[in-house]
Amino acid sequence: MPLDARQFAPLVDAYGRTVTYLRMSVTDRCDLRCTYCMAEHMVFMPKKNLLSIEELARLGDAFIRRGARKLRLTGGEPLVRRGVIDLIGDLSKHLRTGALDEITLTTNGTQLARHAEALASFGVRRVNVSLDTLDPVRYAQVTRRGVIEKTLEGLDAAQTARLSVKLNALAGRGPFEAEVDDLIRFAHGRGMDLTLIEEMPMGATGLNRSETFLALDELRCDLSKRWTLTDLSHNTGGPARYVKVGETGGRLGFISPMSCNFCSLCNRARLSATGRLYTCMGQEGSVDLKPALRDDVAQLDLLLRQAVAAKPSGHNFQTQTVARPSVRRFMSDLGG
Ligand code: SAM
Ligand code: SF4
Repeated sequence: MPLDARQFAPLVDAYGRTVTYLRMSVTDRCDLRCTYCMAEHMVFMPKKNLLSIEELARLGDAFIRRGARKLRLTGGEPLVRRGVIDLIGDLSKHLRTGALDEITLTTNGTQLARHAEALASFGVRRVNVSLDTLDPVRYAQVTRRGVIEKTLEGLDAAQTARLSVKLNALAGRGPFEAEVDDLIRFAHGRGMDLTLIEEMPMGATGLNRSETFLALDELRCDLSKRWTLTDLSHNTGGPARYVKVGETGGRLGFISPMSCNFCSLCNRARLSATGRLYTCMGQEGSVDLKPALRDDVAQLDLLLRQAVAAKPSGHNFQTQTVARPSVRRFMSDLGG
């Protein structure tokens, strides 16, 4: 095989899984401080350590040339990163050539009202918006500073711009259980899927996760007493398992990394905003791609292949030790 063809061959790990999905964190900063995600007083990366928008674009190009078909921008909050819309505009060239199937975003929605139209104009078709509660007081508590109206305006703007919206809600014991029915009605009433996420023990947030952790199989059991849930074969290629809710006609997803390990199908790699490549969210290991960005393409290719070859078979999260972090990193360092 000629050198160029070898360099741009797909990235396949030791278990035969091909990386076709890149999650790119564009910042570790955020305008919120959700209790399950961050500590109250966070120390963020010095801005000089972050990749520039141009470097992020080059790494996006590198993955797409090696077979990534899907790109999700995340963070921290991706829409607080200056230049992020330019980055999406740049990467959207791959949608036009057909090299990439989609660019999506996971966002808290607070800045969506400003950006929804631009996102749609660059070919973004879907966004995931995180919303754990519809109660303004609880929203302010969970996010430690958020104003729910901003996210609700963001949802309106996204739907006006014809972006398909999926709501993500982090499941937890207590008030969430009392509110989950309202979230289902809200999401499905507006034509949005809703995905429930199991809390993962990432980063020392200062709260005891053993008090809040709620296994989704238990929640599903409880929901099925009130709702007619029918398993769907619908699969986004990701870890969510979907059911149809008979009473609303809408889709409800369950992401259960703790109680249901789906690593054998993992097609993802994650890039931090500082240029470190993580091939597993639930492990500490990473490879720094930044120096290679300045070197020749062969060096970058070598690092990418070494990193993917060492992709762990699965995560190390332990349900029984949920109270202490399985990895030191906060969820906001790398995105969901
Ligand atoms: N700021 C954006 C947002 O909130 O959607 C993107 C980054 S945020 C880290 C991505 C997702 O991770 C959110 O849906 C959030 O609920 C989820 N998340 C944060 N901390 C988590 C944890 N400890 N376990 C599971 N999911 C978590
Ligand atoms: Fe920010 Fe998202 Fe983490 Fe909440 S979950 S603190 S919105 S990064």
